[in-house]
Formats: sequence, structure tokens, C-alpha cells
Amino acid sequence: MRCPICGSSAKDITPRESGYASIRCLVDGDFEIDAGCQRELFELIESDRHRVFHGAILSGLAGSRPRITMAAIVGIQATSRQFRRDAIVIPDMNSECATSSK
Ligand SMILES: [Zn+2]
Repeated sequence: MRCPICGSSAKDITPRESGYASIRCLVDGDFEIDAGCQRELFELIESDRHRVFHGAILSGLAGSRPRITMAAIVGIQATSRQFRRDAIVIPDMNSECATSSK
């Protein structure tokens, strides 16, 4: 399989009947993803996937695998949408300037 964070070669090491996925990536190491949020993780752009992963590392307990939760993904989605909305505002302002100067 491919790592859902970086796309490198990875191995699914999920224990049977667990409520999460366990991934072993050559680049990212071992980590877990809550069940049902892998699709949302894939839909993030790569830099946002890394932000989610780094957040999971920092908030994880010492000695345990980083766990990517739906809450973390939703948090990144919110800031990512904010960024895109800001990016859209700029050309709108420019077009207003262009029409008012006529
Ligand atoms: Zn990876």
C-alpha cells in the first residue's frame, strides 16, 4: 500500500478487528488513523496531511504511536478553507479597483 501521508511505500500493520488503521511507513514510521477518516485524510493536500501528522506526533503519549483523529483532520480542514477563502478575496478586491477606476 501507499502511505496516506507521504505516498511512499508503506505496510498495513492493523491488528485484526481494531477500530483504527495502523500504518508502517519507511518515511513517517509507525502511526495510526482512526477508522472512518482515511478518506478525509486523502482529500487534504499533502502539506495539510503533514500538518495533521505532525500534530498527532506532538499530541501523542511517549512510547505510543501517533494517532490521527477525525478531530485533528477537521481542524486542519477548517484552517485550510480559511486560507482558500482569503486567497479568493484578493482577486475580488482587484477587480473592484479595476471597475471603480474606469
Ligand atoms: Zn509516509
